[in-house]
Amino acid sequence: MEERAYLLERVGEAAVVQVYADGFRDLPLREKTLVWHLTQAAIAGRDIFYDQRYAYNLEMRDVIEAIVGRRHAIDPDTFDAVNRYAKLFWINTGPYNNLTARKFVLTCTPRALAEAAHAAARAGARFPLRPGESLSALLDRLGPLFFDPAVDPTVTSKTPPEGQDMLTASANNLYVGVTMKDLDGFEERHPLNSRLVKHNGSLVEEVYRVGGRYSAHISAIVGHLEAAIPFATEPMARALGALVTFYRTGREEDREAYDIAWVGDRSSPVDTINGFVEVYLDARSIKGAWEALVFYVNAAKTSQIRTIAGHAQWFEDHMPWDPKYRKTGARGVTASAIDVVIETGESGPITPVGINLPNAQAIRERYGSKSVSLSNINEAYDKSTLPELRSEFAWTPEETARALKWATFAGELTTNMHEVIGHGSGKVDERLNGNPQAALREQFSAIEESRADLVALYFLPDPKLVELGLVAAGDHADIVLAEYEGYARNALVQLRRVREGTTIEEDHMRNRQMIVRWLMAHTAAIEVRVRDGKTYYVMTDAAAFREGVGGLLAEVQRIKGEGDYDAARALVETYGVHFDPVLRDEVVTRVDRLKLPSYTGFVMPRLRAIHNGGGEIVDVEISYPLDLTSQMLEYSAASAHLRA
Ligand SMILES: [Zn+2]
Repeated sequence: MEERAYLLERVGEAAVVQVYADGFRDLPLREKTLVWHLTQAAIAGRDIFYDQRYAYNLEMRDVIEAIVGRRHAIDPDTFDAVNRYAKLFWINTGPYNNLTARKFVLTCTPRALAEAAHAAARAGARFPLRPGESLSALLDRLGPLFFDPAVDPTVTSKTPPEGQDMLTASANNLYVGVTMKDLDGFEERHPLNSRLVKHNGSLVEEVYRVGGRYSAHISAIVGHLEAAIPFATEPMARALGALVTFYRTGREEDREAYDIAWVGDRSSPVDTINGFVEVYLDARSIKGAWEALVFYVNAAKTSQIRTIAGHAQWFEDHMPWDPKYRKTGARGVTASAIDVVIETGESGPITPVGINLPNAQAIRERYGSKSVSLSNINEAYDKSTLPELRSEFAWTPEETARALKWATFAGELTTNMHEVIGHGSGKVDERLNGNPQAALREQFSAIEESRADLVALYFLPDPKLVELGLVAAGDHADIVLAEYEGYARNALVQLRRVREGTTIEEDHMRNRQMIVRWLMAHTAAIEVRVRDGKTYYVMTDAAAFREGVGGLLAEVQRIKGEGDYDAARALVETYGVHFDPVLRDEVVTRVDRLKLPSYTGFVMPRLRAIHNGGGEIVDVEISYPLDLTSQMLEYSAASAHLRA
């Protein structure tokens, strides 16, 4: 097979990688048409997440896109600075690093930006001027947002500076003028899908729905979903219909009905996630960030994840936690390996590798959950990862060899276990009403992610995996070593992503730091070694590693099951948040010398519908843009009319 491009370019710390959806071509026309309409829905909602993430995001994006689109008119040095900033802005959906939550700024001078903007305007570019506003006044107004790192420094601040409030210290647009104290005794009727605004001293929920906040975008999404319904299978059509109802009413009970319908659609070959879903953006872990994914099942890769799902009850029965937190009659864990065709909002261009939904614990316990493993994303990661990222931090050549041979395989297997028997497992005390989020607040996401990781790490060495045919007996020990070694190394390597400050904000990173540092403190599984001035986290005892993981997992499940906020906070704060900046600087020096990226933004496939004379779709073609800029400009243009 000919070599095709995965790694397209490097922009600062970020890698830009093309994702391929090879199976799309072979889908029947009906499914291609379905995917087409769902893809349009995904593009229509993209700006919602821009606005949720930062109230000024869309104006800022308009300014940089106006300049980037007029390259010939712009001074080359200024163009380079704006172009680089634009790419990071698109990848991170605004001026905040997706992993550190910290602001990054434009590196040209305000004057150079102004000259470039005026030159672009003379060349015909349009700017987002308010009524009566001049271009100079616009640039003055937005200047601090582009250039001053101290203005709105953090998008989500779960650990705010001493004396500051978590909500007002977070620059996101989920709350306006609201503090944690204002929320005492306030009951939200639309916890997931509203912005909370303090208005004349009282709290108002601005509901995301047709006729409410984001009405134009949501109406457009609804239109595309309705166009998709005739091409869907019956259970999927029911789920899409329920989603349309929820988008119209915004009511919590309609959201539940949608979740139940979505989780009940177990076998459709095409599926979508579209809505206000994950709660990482909210320091309280309550408000949902908008995202959309459209995907089809990758049948060849599905057998592994289906096998795990098919034996979910066995894993549940063998969880190393208090039996009262074991689910009985584990039902409805549906799992597939999928190929994504598009991801927007919170899922793109930076994407997860696995997803388990719905998030509502009560629905999970009663109706089960669906897990997907993003095969073509995993493949693109794998093909674009530089081998030095593993070898630089491995203590021995044997460790490097194991990583090169097994890291990808072990990573996919543990991701599948993380989603299916990790997030999908366990139950909580009845007292919590199926809502441990409310009790664990800003610690919830890190605790839940650690629970899912620990389940995967705990079962990886289990002979059951050989019995189920998931790993070959002769390779099992090496696969376990490769995963445990890689997991320990990662706690060191991930520090490259937090180039400023001394705290970790992102919940998956907190969880991984916490597990490794807890194991260091409580077991003999991981040693810190130094050679030639370089630090290594060396996994030395797989049995001790697993035993420690089991012990920590029992405690983490207890914390979730009881909603023990104080214990959650102590655990995450002690092991998962703070790190030594000297060590971080060492790691950054090492990765920069090797030019290793810290994170990846993905360019999605591009679809084009072919219509006949009667306006019917007769084919949908897929192609690969191999270019972030053209895709981002295309998406922005496609939904510009919704902002008028
Ligand atoms: Zn997870």
